[in-house]
Amino acid sequence: MEVKRHRLDGIQFDESPHVGGKITPRFIVMHYTAGGSALSSVRAIRERGLSAHLFVDRDGGIIQTVPFNVAAFHAGPSSWRGFDGLNQHSIGIENANFGFLDQRTSDGWTRTGLRTFGPHEVLVARHKNGGPEMAWELYPEAQLRALDAIVAALREAYPTIQEVVGHDDISPGRKVDPGPAFPMVRYQNQGGAAGSGTLRDNDLGEFEVVVRDSLNLRGGPGTGFTALRSLPPGTRLRVLREDGEWCQVDLKGDGVPDGFVHAAFLRRIGA
Ligand SMILES: [Zn+2]
Repeated sequence: MEVKRHRLDGIQFDESPHVGGKITPRFIVMHYTAGGSALSSVRAIRERGLSAHLFVDRDGGIIQTVPFNVAAFHAGPSSWRGFDGLNQHSIGIENANFGFLDQRTSDGWTRTGLRTFGPHEVLVARHKNGGPEMAWELYPEAQLRALDAIVAALREAYPTIQEVVGHDDISPGRKVDPGPAFPMVRYQNQGGAAGSGTLRDNDLGEFEVVVRDSLNLRGGPGTGFTALRSLPPGTRLRVLREDGEWCQVDLKGDGVPDGFVHAAFLRRIGA
């Protein structure tokens, strides 16, 4: 699977009218649809004036509705690692899944309007953010394998992606998706800095330069500022703060800013 011109190559594209401005993707946010097929959820979410970049069905089928370099409306009020309003900083993936089933029956678990799910179709657990013990629809392996390929392709295409998170991480208390049945660690282990702890003020962590030839270190946050020197690929540095698309960096590890580089050419290697 490959990203070409901000779309998954060869995947159905059903353009959403609900989009924002250009974004630099820093996170992948996982959701569940709380519904049936991915196609039915594409329609239902569109009717509510919302959107996501991708919808992934239980059988691994994928529909894209927003290009990856444009904001989709999937996160709502949210914050993570110092960023607010994650629509502006993330790629949103809606996974077809009914979510929680809060009514126990003699045969299993259900929710108003749904069939009963047997014990092998659900995980019974409390949500990590609290609440009662309930059943959560399991995500089939075909769906998780499609997500393996998607996450790998997105990390390859967008080295700015630092982490895969859940809607329930960035909007705790308000959202419970993708919930306890979603194997988040499977995606966090594909590189990145997942679970690496809280980022400190004035030190956003260690990064390396990901560029083919060299990256200009500049005197300020823009191409109009003087190039102080050029950094070869693999150069390690610390990001002290962000200024729009630019990062003020420390090359020597002494906490003293040495200049600015464009954020698109940095990949996180530690916090
Ligand atoms: Zn969500």
